[in-house]
Amino acid sequence: MSSEDSASRIRSAASLLVKGGTLTSDACPKCGGVQVRFANKTTCINCGNEVKAGAAQKAEPEKAAPAQASSGLASAASLIEEKIMLLATEIKNESDISVQKQKAELLESYLRILEKTKSLLG
Ligand SMILES: [Zn+2]
Repeated sequence: MSSEDSASRIRSAASLLVKGGTLTSDACPKCGGVQVRFANKTTCINCGNEVKAGAAQKAEPEKAAPAQASSGLASAASLIEEKIMLLATEIKNESDISVQKQKAELLESYLRILEKTKSLLG
């Protein structure tokens, strides 16, 4: 187990978010970690497990998806804010220091993304 690996995974997940990927509300089926969906692939930030979208799932109700780009950004921002709150709580309750560090790094990435997203919103 290498912490460098998980750090680079978090970094690549963060870059997916910057490229237009979205955080999914579904937890990783393997480890329960946070997943990022980009293109037609869902990648777990925690363990790196990748799932190709459209393979198993058929009915995908994405009714809440807003059509406009600006409201899409706004909902992305609020989603990231939600994740930050969740992570902050998890860090508070986490006793394993290496997990804390991992989550803190993830939180830092979220904050950077949130900053960018908000600057795009103006
Ligand atoms: Zn996972």
